[in-house]
Amino acid sequence: MDYLSTRGGAKALDFEGATLAGLASDGGLYVPSEWPRFAESEIAAMAGLPYAEIAARVMQPFVGDSLSPERLRELTTQAYGRFAHAAVTPLKQLDETQWLLELFHGPTLAFKDVALQLLGLLFEEFLERRGQNLTVVGATSGDTGSAAIDAVAGLDKVNIFMLHPRGRVSDVQRRQMTTVLAPNVHNIAIEGSFDDAQAMVKRMFNDRAMADRFAIGAVNSINWARLMAQVVYYFAAAVQLGAPHRQVAFSVPTGNFGDVFAGYVAAQMGLPVAKLVVATNVNDILHRALSSGDYSQGIVTPTAAPSMDIQVSSNFERLLFDLGGRDGAAMAAQMGGFEGTKAMQLSNSQREGAARLFASSRADADDMAQAIRWGWEHCGELLDPHTACAIHAAKTIDCGAGVPIVTLATAHPAKFRDAVERATGQRPGLPTRVGDLFEREERCTELPGDYAAIADYIASHAVPRSG
Ligand SMILES: *Cc1c(COP(=O)(O)O)cnc(C)c1O
Repeated sequence: MDYLSTRGGAKALDFEGATLAGLASDGGLYVPSEWPRFAESEIAAMAGLPYAEIAARVMQPFVGDSLSPERLRELTTQAYGRFAHAAVTPLKQLDETQWLLELFHGPTLAFKDVALQLLGLLFEEFLERRGQNLTVVGATSGDTGSAAIDAVAGLDKVNIFMLHPRGRVSDVQRRQMTTVLAPNVHNIAIEGSFDDAQAMVKRMFNDRAMADRFAIGAVNSINWARLMAQVVYYFAAAVQLGAPHRQVAFSVPTGNFGDVFAGYVAAQMGLPVAKLVVATNVNDILHRALSSGDYSQGIVTPTAAPSMDIQVSSNFERLLFDLGGRDGAAMAAQMGGFEGTKAMQLSNSQREGAARLFASSRADADDMAQAIRWGWEHCGELLDPHTACAIHAAKTIDCGAGVPIVTLATAHPAKFRDAVERATGQRPGLPTRVGDLFEREERCTELPGDYAAIADYIASHAVPRSG
């Protein structure tokens, strides 16, 4: 399988190359040259299989010749063996039509583990093969950071530099990053918002001087391999609910549009997806874009769901590229315009294409708290604030009569204990696997939100590409 840049100006790469590259050299994102499609019988045959086996089957067409089917199966077995639930992503029934897909049974209690535990193993495999060192640079609004750090801590050929906005991640989230003391892990707290941190990372990817010395890799959802790994649980959940013979809808707490884009990919691969509900909090650029075509950047408002406090949604570019006829030059012009003016209008074909599959919703602080309360009072489930935005959406949007709607539970409620306690009076306990988090030593470097300072720090602590 070949991977193309959404902006048409970078050379095509194979899966191994796209995994190590992260962002394309023209500033675009890698997408597969075509969507593989499963026959109904192949989807039906996934019912009842172990998660690691479904993962290997769904991902094989994307991996192509970069890994043998046997090796891929070994890696999925190893990655998903680290989850605390035998089903890896268990599905729970909430009421007659609503279901909850729990994606938070990995080591750091957020759905990002599902992709990053595998990505760490893929990095190791490909870097050993090439004799190369990788410098991973990422920005996190909370969960990406801890999941990425856990996935690569202690790896020989990877150094990770994780930027987070100082004071804007929860205590649990911060400690999950800063208490990992492995020498290849470098936490950096910067002054500013998550979007500022993400802008620094994007700039580093386009920094020639850095790219000449270091192989800079991405663990944010701009990395295609992450999205690929997330396609799997859409299949795993849908076949449990009767796919391919029955349609299923999904409601997805959305920030960078990675998770819900994986649902779009599943639909392109033949999964009968009735609707994909893009659930946002008050940082609603995606809700505005999908409901009125207006993709214009607002000011980030901090909320109880910080992983969705985003006003630029990187992976939306992948959707616009696919819906706009995969025209790299047009995409480069459209995104160039957006980067200049912080606003753009979707084209008619983009709007109409998106409307066929996507719906969207916005939850304010009251909606979130009400959804958390509903989960506890009616279903006996504690929901984290991100998941609550999607429950709010699932309860308000019509996905068709008799269509089951699956809300993706993206974080364990214990990661956001204060918000959950405020809404329900219940304080969720931390699972035993992270139980002593508050006793562990922390290590973190504080830097101003200044590109030169950050680049200097990384250059003096990273290992050159080969050496
Ligand atoms: C990252 C994250 C999201 C947003 O996912 P995207 O792929 O960026 O849309 C939602 N909820 C939680 C808990 C997250 O960590």
